[in-house]
Amino acid sequence: MKKRNSPPVTPADCIACGSACCRYIIVDLPHEPRGEESFEELLWYLFNPHTKLLKEGRRWSLMVSGRCRMLADDGRCRIYEDRPFLCGDYPQVTADECHGPDLRDFSGRIFQSAEELLTYLADERGKEWARRRLKRMVALEKK
Ligand code: SF4
Ligand code: SF4
Repeated sequence: MKKRNSPPVTPADCIACGSACCRYIIVDLPHEPRGEESFEELLWYLFNPHTKLLKEGRRWSLMVSGRCRMLADDGRCRIYEDRPFLCGDYPQVTADECHGPDLRDFSGRIFQSAEELLTYLADERGKEWARRRLKRMVALEKK
């Protein structure tokens, strides 16, 4: 996510937002998925209710929900001084770009389920294989 010139987010802001950043991880995929085979893996991710896929331009990322075990009940980090570099970078995040618990300023697409991804591939990218799979999946859900 881009950095802008506005005041940094404070620890108080983080506690007020419910420490959203400490409740999931995001891992960038090494390659942009292209063929059916590579999307196969992404569909598998999305069958898991704790995962989402993010797409920002050609960059795809996997988001996995789950509370960090170093997050204290009062919203503070139990290993603040030793927190990983990625967490330590967050005080530089500005209030403008802070995404909050719902990724509100994320400018890309968020796919919450395999059906959403297949619909995107079928309708916006014209993938016939995705249309066929989606049809079968919808039929299965109706049984
Ligand atoms: S989303 Fe923003 S306010 Fe919330 S924990 Fe992360 S950096 Fe702090
Ligand atoms: S290590 Fe600390 S700052 Fe990092 S995700 Fe866990 S609780 Fe949050």
